[in-house]
Amino acid sequence: MYQKLAKIFKTKTKADEILLLLDDQKEVVRQAFYEEEFPKIEDFCKKNNIFVSKSKFKILFSDEESGMYSNKGITIQEKDKRHAPYFYYFSKSEEKSYLANYYELIGNIEEFGKLLGYPSCCIKYFVNNFSSRNPDPEIKDCHPLLNLSKREQDAVLISHFPCNKECEKSVKLAKEKIIVISKYSLERVNELKTKLGIK
Ligand SMILES: [Zn+2]
Repeated sequence: MYQKLAKIFKTKTKADEILLLLDDQKEVVRQAFYEEEFPKIEDFCKKNNIFVSKSKFKILFSDEESGMYSNKGITIQEKDKRHAPYFYYFSKSEEKSYLANYYELIGNIEEFGKLLGYPSCCIKYFVNNFSSRNPDPEIKDCHPLLNLSKREQDAVLISHFPCNKECEKSVKLAKEKIIVISKYSLERVNELKTKLGIK
């Protein structure tokens, strides 16, 4: 099941997040996809009672990142002809899928972050530290469970910027995620532990 999911959602990191949704550990998950990637995903969502809504804008990423971290991308209008992915908001609740979409559109980071299950301390940190001058509020040398540096190698456990190196709430989320993934793929858990340096 795990391999199939990773194939449909293009990366293991994205598959991991969908597992959190299926297991009711998260209410909303946001991921970037090109429109042409979407039919198989849509099909999966229909079969699994997941609602999904698409952003009104596209995102141009500055590098080959997976698009989990929107901070590095700039948004462009839908009518812009450049080939770029959209954000898709997945939820078992149709209302929450649209709400997350809307909150991101109007830039309400607090409400958006809450729906995506980010800890309140980290939302506050992001609001206070993120700006166009500082688009990457990543703290280096975090606790291994909060390690964001391997995300381009498809290994990361949290989908937000932790407010400090040892943020307890983020560590808890990462631990819960490992438990969920372990129900589906021990191989994936081992891969994550190796790549992130978790003992
Ligand atoms: Zn925090």
